Amino acid sequence: MEAEIGIIGGSGIYSPDFIKDVKEVKVYTPFGEPSDFILVGYVGDRKVAFIPRHGRGHRIPPHMINYRANIWALKELGVKRILAPSAVGSLQEEIKPGDFVIPDQFIDMTKRRCYTFYDGGKVAHASLADPFCPELRKVLIEGCKALGLSHHEAGTYVCIEGPRFSTRAESALFRSWGAHIIGMTLVPEVNLAREAEICYVTIAMVTDYDVWAERPVTASEVAKTMAENVEKVRKLLEFVIPRIPEERKCPCKEALKDAVI
Ligand SMILES: [Zn+2]
Repeated sequence: MEAEIGIIGGSGIYSPDFIKDVKEVKVYTPFGEPSDFILVGYVGDRKVAFIPRHGRGHRIPPHMINYRANIWALKELGVKRILAPSAVGSLQEEIKPGDFVIPDQFIDMTKRRCYTFYDGGKVAHASLADPFCPELRKVLIEGCKALGLSHHEAGTYVCIEGPRFSTRAESALFRSWGAHIIGMTLVPEVNLAREAEICYVTIAMVTDYDVWAERPVTASEVAKTMAENVEKVRKLLEFVIPRIPEERKCPCKEALKDAVI
């Protein structure tokens, strides 16, 4: 069982109906169990592998996700590129609920996760100066444009430990740093993908304004926005996957070339 493109489904995306001819695969890894079975199937003529980040039924909170097992399992299946939708809050007025952001940077505020496959024996210092795959970012931005989705072509994602939300002071601090969106799952998924020399990109789907905005939102408003976002991201993935270039021309495939000491 093999696949070339991985999708790590975020909140609300558990069993994507746009993947055809699906087979369920259980993958064992040296780091323990991935979040769930992996669904392998086709989008157009491209072979994809889908894993729900929080497990089906949203069982696993952000700080308990076995990120290493998820990335290892996708690598094991032959995945070379990962598209990772995730729900985020907005830190900027102009980034509105329902918008998509294709971030180009992140700030890591997580505290107690497993950040690397290289815990000893071999030492590797991968560069994350530009953490996201430039080729995949381009394909996604073009996809958003073609489908008329309200989106932002760049942005800085602050990743917090969770599962709690930020205090007002934290939210104000992140804004003062010039960050744009905030979530709990990007790190260390993005680090590990880089170490595995897999292209990685996030589709950040804005559900609401973070606490700085002092704009109380109800759970039902957030649920409505999330449901609309899930529908939009389904359309986006269905559109972009067949358009991803077959050959990788980006630096991601050689990320460890000069990184292992
Ligand atoms: Zn790449």
